[in-house]
Amino acid sequence: MSQLKRGRACLALAWLTLAGAASAGELLIEQRMADDGALLVRYTPPEGVRELPLFDRSQTMAIVWGEMATPLDSCATITLKPRVTLQLNEGCTSATFRITPRVLSRRATYEPAFAIGPSAVMSYTGYYAAALPGHALRWRWVPGDGARAVVSGRVATQAVDRAITAEQVAFAAKDGGNTAAGWAALAANEYSFLGKAAQESLPGGVLIYDGKLDAARLEAVRSTLGSVTARLARAYGVMPADAWAVVASVSSAVRSTYHGDVTAGRMMSLRFNDTPPRDLTNALRQTRWFVSHEVTHWWDTGVFRTDMDRPWIHEGHADWMAGLLMLDAGQTDAATWRADMDTALNNCQLARRERPVATLPTGFNGDDPYACGHVTWLLAQSLRPRDAAPVDIAASLFRGSTAPIDAAAIARWADGPTPGAMRSLLLDPKQGWLSALKRDWGDVIEATELKAGDTLPQPLRGRLTGALMAELMNADCGRMGFWTNADHFLIEAVPACKTLRGDMRVRRIAGVSPFDDPVGAWLAVRAACTAGQPIALGTDGPEPTALPCPSPAPDMPIRDLLRLRPQAMERLGLGR
Ligand SMILES: [Zn+2]
Repeated sequence: MSQLKRGRACLALAWLTLAGAASAGELLIEQRMADDGALLVRYTPPEGVRELPLFDRSQTMAIVWGEMATPLDSCATITLKPRVTLQLNEGCTSATFRITPRVLSRRATYEPAFAIGPSAVMSYTGYYAAALPGHALRWRWVPGDGARAVVSGRVATQAVDRAITAEQVAFAAKDGGNTAAGWAALAANEYSFLGKAAQESLPGGVLIYDGKLDAARLEAVRSTLGSVTARLARAYGVMPADAWAVVASVSSAVRSTYHGDVTAGRMMSLRFNDTPPRDLTNALRQTRWFVSHEVTHWWDTGVFRTDMDRPWIHEGHADWMAGLLMLDAGQTDAATWRADMDTALNNCQLARRERPVATLPTGFNGDDPYACGHVTWLLAQSLRPRDAAPVDIAASLFRGSTAPIDAAAIARWADGPTPGAMRSLLLDPKQGWLSALKRDWGDVIEATELKAGDTLPQPLRGRLTGALMAELMNADCGRMGFWTNADHFLIEAVPACKTLRGDMRVRRIAGVSPFDDPVGAWLAVRAACTAGQPIALGTDGPEPTALPCPSPAPDMPIRDLLRLRPQAMERLGLGR
């Protein structure tokens, strides 16, 4: 960050002279904002290099470089296939591209470039990074007059440089973007902000926002950042040393109430839809939850460490902490909190069923790390002495820790010196997940057998309903897609089904509406199969439709409804 020492007078001329500032053997990628709010990206390759293959090979790159980018000079051409490559023309030492900001919203996370009001832009380095083996890489963000660059959570009024050594570039090039470490080596996993927008300082960081964001949602973000940071500083006994920046933007392209994402380097983006939400209470609650979850990560994986191969530990703890923080701050009530807990219990059951925790594959594959981690921390904390506020108890295992928190550490924290229920649940390779819950945590969790006609919590109803249609479709068509709507499944047009047809609206399965009675529909399918009957489908079409029974006959993915017992709330110090 030696650029911070540059004199202010240099700034106006900085962009004109920067192309010459790349040192030999170094690729320079500079970003600044055009007067009209577009993002300008300039590439100055090392001498002799004319071809720049970009690092990210994903499909999204064709959209970014095919639809959002245009060359600003006649110095380069863009080739989209087989991967996006920039070709520098003879006689040019650099090439500049103009990226028109826009929320793609085809991916929920990491937007390439989007506007923060009329005079600022946020961008994600991954879409612009290039790894040239044998050369170093220098990123540079030039804020321009009176504007700011915010990189890695730090606010600067002058150009910010980030130097990546030739060794790091070589590592990234070899990795090819296959692991998180490859992206991190290139600093290709970070948001950065350029331009002018409203900015407020909060303890430890800044909040930057579009002036069009309504007061209610802005205040929810501001107050949650303020209160959660202060509360967690008390609970963990330390403040994160590094700065953070939260950028709140407004866009009609955001389809849900908001999108949130966070990148390495402490940059959080909250993109809100431009119309105030119909259910404001729920929208504010979701926003507060998201902010609380993400801020918890600043401690769990920033100040302290966890076993990163088991994301359920930190994702679960962030969810567990978010719920406790919201109760602590009076931002949610006990009934809503319990409903969230019940959702986590049943979502985890759908993901794990009887699979032992100890033998699960690492990473996110084949698990629901949010729901299952959430449940793990609930169970662990229910075994802890109730000697402090729930938020403080939840932070206590991390407080002062030097080794990464792993499954063994959680087991010791919950069980105490004598190995007990938590050790069995997390570390015994023969212990099934559901039977451990039923055997050892019966006083915390109630398991009730699912029966036809049961009224289920909405999230579980949706999951069971969708799972039934998926079974039938996979049998009839092979793997394919459909949309679950409020009262019908909309089947996407597909060529290969034996019976199902595109645009079909399926309302009843084996005589039962799975939307009113998902358990009843599963049991009716099972009964039809047992009786050797086809499965009748009630559709909007004139002719009766029936599917042959799949083999093996579909079986409901879970047998029990899991719920938190009311006395567990008292045990956790959360009242009833
Ligand atoms: Zn998270």
